[in-house]
Amino acid sequence: MKTFITYWFYPLSLILTVVFAWLLKQAGLSNGLIVPILSLSIIVICFALELKYRDTQHWGHNREEITSDLLHASVSSTIPTWLFRVLFYSLIVEASSRFQSSFDIGWPNDWPLLVQIGLCLLFSEFAAYWIHRTLHTFDIGWRIHAVHHSSRNYYSLIGLRRHPLQTFITFGGRIGFLWFVGVPADILMYYTLIAATNSLCQHSSFEQKAGPLNWIMATPELHRWHHSKLVEESNRNYGDILIIYDVLFGTRIFPKDVERLYDKGMGLPDGTQVDHSYWGHLKMPFVWKAIQPEKVLSDKEENYEKHIAGN
Ligand SMILES: [Zn+2]
Repeated sequence: MKTFITYWFYPLSLILTVVFAWLLKQAGLSNGLIVPILSLSIIVICFALELKYRDTQHWGHNREEITSDLLHASVSSTIPTWLFRVLFYSLIVEASSRFQSSFDIGWPNDWPLLVQIGLCLLFSEFAAYWIHRTLHTFDIGWRIHAVHHSSRNYYSLIGLRRHPLQTFITFGGRIGFLWFVGVPADILMYYTLIAATNSLCQHSSFEQKAGPLNWIMATPELHRWHHSKLVEESNRNYGDILIIYDVLFGTRIFPKDVERLYDKGMGLPDGTQVDHSYWGHLKMPFVWKAIQPEKVLSDKEENYEKHIAGN
């Protein structure tokens, strides 16, 4: 069973997410019901598999973090999204018909569903790549995004950990962009679910191999390196669902010695005083300097290339 999960859970999760979404759509359920039903299902499945097959050395039962992550899922992800809709939806989609018509690329509604989903991923992932890379590049962005990188444990619910400001930026950047180019609501529903499934799989601690998919998708095998304490590694693999833009822009990384990643540790630099309560996560960007270690023992100083070459 474990071998089956290792090799098949990830691709099957993505495929079955689309299949079940399609079946529920055919059964007449609204997008507003399909998204939470399937998202909650994948959260429960990933969490249950971690309880069964977790790597006890690298996955801890930290109740404070789990509580905070569930609050992120129910509050940090929903309120900013709602706010974005209230503030900009009418501006972008409804009241801006003249504005939109001049930029509408003419979405191919008559193309096969899977082709439309693929096209949507290509668009959204281009935006996602640059938003994510920007969050890592500039101090103000990193303060916000560091919440997502703050855990020393690595487990599925980290995929839900987003500062509300990041949700607002990400949602605005991706969904706003997709609305802008005229992607239909049904395709956005599939996109949202694929993103949720991929994120939960990415952050799950049980072993998942992806083979050749590692050149197309932002797989669990690739994404864990993005959570490395080494800046040279965490500033790689920015892809949210696809890895192709990392390949294109030279930021893909896939070292083989995953044990070294665990030995070095994941998360923020040693000495960073992270308060893992939900309130602690909310205020983190605003007290960023105060929680930094006196001397950041940055792994930057290590000769990374030499290390890789030596392995
Ligand atoms: Zn990141």
